[in-house]
Amino acid sequence: MTADETAVRETGQDFIRDIVQDDLQSGRHTGVVTRFPPEPNGYLHIGHAKSICLNFGIAKEFGGRCHLRFDDTNPTKEEQEYIDAIQRDVQWLGFDWGKHLYHASDYFETLYGWAEHLIKAGKAYVDDQSQEEMRASRGTLTEPGRNSPFRERSVEENLDLLRRMRAGEFPNGARVLRAKIDMSSGNINLRDPVLYRILHATHPRTGTQWKIYPSYDYAHGQSDAIEHITHSICTLEFEDHRPLYDWFIENLPVPSRPHQYEFARLNMTHTVLSKRVLNGLVTGGHVAGWDDPRMPTIAGLRRRGVPPEAIRDFIKRIGVAKANSVVDAAMFDFSVREALNKTALRRMAVLRPLKVVIENYPEGQVEELDAANHPEDAGAGSRKIKFGREIYVERDDFMENPPKKFYRLSPGKEVRLRYAYFITCREVIKNATGEVVELRCTYDPATRGGNAPDGRKVQATIHWVSAAHAVESEVRLYNPLFANPSPDAGNFAAELSPTSLEVIGDARLEPALAESNASDGVQFERLGYFCRDADSKPGRPVFNRTVGLRDTWAKVSAGGKG
Ligand code: ATP
Ligand code: MG
Repeated sequence: MTADETAVRETGQDFIRDIVQDDLQSGRHTGVVTRFPPEPNGYLHIGHAKSICLNFGIAKEFGGRCHLRFDDTNPTKEEQEYIDAIQRDVQWLGFDWGKHLYHASDYFETLYGWAEHLIKAGKAYVDDQSQEEMRASRGTLTEPGRNSPFRERSVEENLDLLRRMRAGEFPNGARVLRAKIDMSSGNINLRDPVLYRILHATHPRTGTQWKIYPSYDYAHGQSDAIEHITHSICTLEFEDHRPLYDWFIENLPVPSRPHQYEFARLNMTHTVLSKRVLNGLVTGGHVAGWDDPRMPTIAGLRRRGVPPEAIRDFIKRIGVAKANSVVDAAMFDFSVREALNKTALRRMAVLRPLKVVIENYPEGQVEELDAANHPEDAGAGSRKIKFGREIYVERDDFMENPPKKFYRLSPGKEVRLRYAYFITCREVIKNATGEVVELRCTYDPATRGGNAPDGRKVQATIHWVSAAHAVESEVRLYNPLFANPSPDAGNFAAELSPTSLEVIGDARLEPALAESNASDGVQFERLGYFCRDADSKPGRPVFNRTVGLRDTWAKVSAGGKG
């Protein structure tokens, strides 16, 4: 068994990998070449990650190569910002196209030449019908289409018109070039599809050189053939386009014969995976940008603190199938927790501070206590944390009139402060409106480090920070953009959850967090995984909650907030 075969076994097979393996074993192909073909009209999302992991993954496992090819055929929607973002995101996910970076626009001249080739073979014609006329004569699933009155134009007239279209003689929409296939085909994609349309626009790469642009169907397969792609992998919506894909390959002098394979796209609960909708969220001001941590974009997930390993692990777990399905968003969170649990250092932070004064602790005294950086990884070492007479604890960890199963702080109750001492609540201080503003407690000096020498137990351990040393911080908690598990993409603005972002302005962090690195995920003990946001200012860090410690989706679906 070769090293490549070992790699395949380890990653687990799916039907596409089976096909690739068969093709290599049977000698049908001597090497595998795949491609990831994004249109640069938006940022990549987690659905694209599935396609990236599949295409780049197969190339890696079978010792082949994967191209990054921009499908830049629609200059009215495409921008350099998107081209740059896509490259950054693919690299961040851990994949490398090496020198194989291409653009459909690299092939505009060749594609044009092949359009003339089709005309000369009597297999394409210029149609002067309006868009509405073409739509009306295309027919339906049950009715055949009607031939265009321009279908029988001579080769000379077609060549002349196409050349004049190219030269920019006609306005947008005046004419199109269509393949001459079969207006009564049961497959609507074969009813004389459009190859070129007139578009006076500035292209990010070719500027104003072109006045006509190829359609997706025409450009895509031919780009595959030019690049000697062996397995052209796309999502199921394109299954009905495959006969057209093959028609072009058969009728053009292409240098290779790629084959298209379709797999089920990723759909996720509480999530809309469509660049059109995500673009609407950005331009409509519903989110802070493409990298808003609530967005399912790669840039958003990165900013939220999701490590690339978590995305790759998730994609591996969901597998590749030929039938559409919807993946539970909780599965994604599971992969994020798995990845972060291994690496994230543990720290203490109090999101909603309640002051505690330890009455029998000497005023002005400060001591340093040892705190482990990672409970399951002794190699991560420990740090010193400062303890003093005044500390903050989480508001939620206190109840004045607790129900039976509430084991944390309440009047008269003893609890353990993580890494520190046992304390007992003696008095509750309220303000004029009756709100609890401070607790008066006592500590047991014999319990330093968190254990009582007499062996007595407490039922709860809570986290805390020293009031004199803590750093004030903004913490952003993210909940799903869509509370509805299957949001209506057609009406997404109305479906947006009003509680998707919760900003806490006065959280208190242990000082070590003020120095933490932006890209490192940390665990705030008992609260979840967090990362430092780029909005941080000196002395005032901003943290994002990446994911909570437990599955909160059940609550979300029931209408609560996560
Ligand atoms: P969107 O529907 O978000 O606009 P798209 O298909 O128009 O996406 P492209 O830039 O054309 O976006 O996509 C590049 C590649 O990513 C294509 O091969 C496409 O099939 C794949 N892809 C897009 N969305 C998904 C998804 N949800 N799951 C898996 N693959 C996807
Ligand atoms: Mg597309």
